[in-house]
Amino acid sequence: MTSPKTPSDPCAANTDRELWRAPPGDYYADSIHVTAAGGIGIDVGGRVFVRPLRMWHDMASKYDALLERAERAEANENELRMTRAAYDVVLEDRNRVEIDKAALLKRAEAAEAEVARQKEQWKLLGEINDGLLAEVARLKQGGVCRVCRGTGKHWNAFCLACDETGGLS
Ligand SMILES: [Zn+2]
Repeated sequence: MTSPKTPSDPCAANTDRELWRAPPGDYYADSIHVTAAGGIGIDVGGRVFVRPLRMWHDMASKYDALLERAERAEANENELRMTRAAYDVVLEDRNRVEIDKAALLKRAEAAEAEVARQKEQWKLLGEINDGLLAEVARLKQGGVCRVCRGTGKHWNAFCLACDETGGLS
C-alpha cells in the first residue's frame, strides 16, 4: 500500500506521529512515522509505504531468504557450468581418441596388407628358387645334349661340350 505525501490533508498530518527524520525539520527528508492505527510508515524520496510492524519484519526476513536462495542458485549455476566445461573436455578427449583409434586401425590394416604382399612375394621367390634348384639338380644329374648328343656337363641349357644351347633330352 502506497500513498502520496499529502501535506494538505489535515487528517494524515494530524494522526501520524513522526518517529524519525533526517535532517530534522526538512519536509522532503526521509522519515519514519507511526499511524493512529499502529502502522509504521516509511517515506523515502516522497514515496510512502505503511505496514504493520510485523509485516515490515516479515518482509525483511523474506527478503533475506530470497537473497540466500539467489546466492545458492548462482552457486549451483556456476557448479553446473564447471561440470559442463569438464564434460566438454572429456567429450573432446573421447573424440580425439576415436580419431586416433581410426588412424591406428587404418595403419594396422595397411601394415597387414603389406605383410601379406611380402609373404606372397616370398612364396613366389621360394617357388622360383625351388624351380631353379630342381633345374640345377637335373643338370647335375647330366643327360644327353640335344645338339651333340653328348653327355658332357651343361650349365642351364648351355652344353659345355659343343658350346650350343640346345638343352638336354
Ligand atoms: Zn652338346
